[in-house]
Formats: sequence, structure tokens, C-alpha cells
Amino acid sequence: MCVFCSIINHEIPSKVVYEDDLVLAILDISQVTKGHTLVMPKKHVDNLMECDDETAAHLIQVVKRLAKQIQERTGALGINILNNNGETAGQTVNHLHFHIIPRYSENDAFV
Ligand code: 5GP
Ligand code: ZN
Repeated sequence: MCVFCSIINHEIPSKVVYEDDLVLAILDISQVTKGHTLVMPKKHVDNLMECDDETAAHLIQVVKRLAKQIQERTGALGINILNNNGETAGQTVNHLHFHIIPRYSENDAFV
């Protein structure tokens, strides 16, 4: 069972930031900073290397667009965009996702 697939299938509630046919963006359940958002493909793949090029290209376009919107809406001074692949690299949910982490100061997150 994959927690993000359950969210995509509306079996687990989430705060949706953006949705289209291929991609879902939600607020992280434990936000590192205000506005911390996760962007994922609706089709399950474990990590970026397993993602087809068309989906990956669309995903990064959505990440780019949302990062701009989130920065404008939150007034963040900077944005971290993060993608963990594999447990050793810090991945805890094995469904590909990008983190968008708004930054308000140099000390508000350990990224
Ligand atoms: P990872 O460590 O795999 O890169 O990031 C997984 C992220 O998913 C974590 O930041 C964690 O807080 C978030 N997360 C885990 N379970 C849930 C959930 O049920 N709902 C939401 N919205 N986020 C979750
Ligand atoms: Zn999944």
C-alpha cells in the first residue's frame, strides 16, 4: 500500500494545491516551513529514474509554475526544490515526489 496512491485515490484526505490529469500537488502533512508542498505524478513510480520522460517533463513544469506561485503568495525569499530517490537518500515515501519548500530565512529549515 502506497500512502500517496491512497491520497490520489481520495482514500486519505489531503490539502490539494494543484491537480491535473497527470499530476497532484498537496501540502506536506508536516510542513518544514509554511507552504511546504509535494508534487507527484498520479501514476505510481518509485522514483525519478523510473518515470517516463513525458510525465517527468510535465512534472517539472508544474513544479516550476507552482514554485513561482507559492513564492508570490507566501512572500518567501527563496525556494528549495528537493527530490529524494532511495531510502539512503532520505526517501521515506516510495512514490516519486518533489518538495517545494519556501524559505523565509537562512535558518528556518535544515535543507
Ligand atoms: P520524502 O522523505 O520521501 O522525500 O518525503 C515524504 C514526505 O511526505 C514527508 O515530508 C512527509 O511529511 C510527507 N507525508 C508522509 N505521509 C503523508 C501524508 O499522509 N499526507 C501528506 N500530505 N504528506 C505526507
Ligand atoms: Zn504510489
